[in-house]
Amino acid sequence: MKTLKDIEEHDCLNHVDRDLLKQEAINRNYEVPLIYTFSWNYYEYWCPYCDTHEGMMGAGENVEETKELKKRLKLFEEVTKDYIHAMGVLGCFSTKWKEEQIKPEDLPKEEKDRLQTIRDKGWELNKKVEDLK
Ligand SMILES: [Zn+2]
Repeated sequence: MKTLKDIEEHDCLNHVDRDLLKQEAINRNYEVPLIYTFSWNYYEYWCPYCDTHEGMMGAGENVEETKELKKRLKLFEEVTKDYIHAMGVLGCFSTKWKEEQIKPEDLPKEEKDRLQTIRDKGWELNKKVEDLK
């Protein structure tokens, strides 16, 4: 189990700078803790603010673990839970359903549709988690 200490965090400014279109919408001083997840193959870290995916090596920027960031990570993990789950299940080779290991395409239609709807809706970017509730 990873602790926040192992999780690299970054200020979105680092990679948004390359994208001038997005720049205006971003609060430059808002630090976003990266979410550690296996929902995207080969990219274990996801930035829920600008949708950057990065692998274990060289993800984000190491910053001091503060109370504020810890709290923010918790909030981001909470609000993105369904989205991350949907992305993970629909993109994997095998998933658990009622204690059984099955292929995602063998899920009941209802559940597949539910996950698909979440995935199609996507995740709302450029939003501070504190403003999402
Ligand atoms: Zn970012």
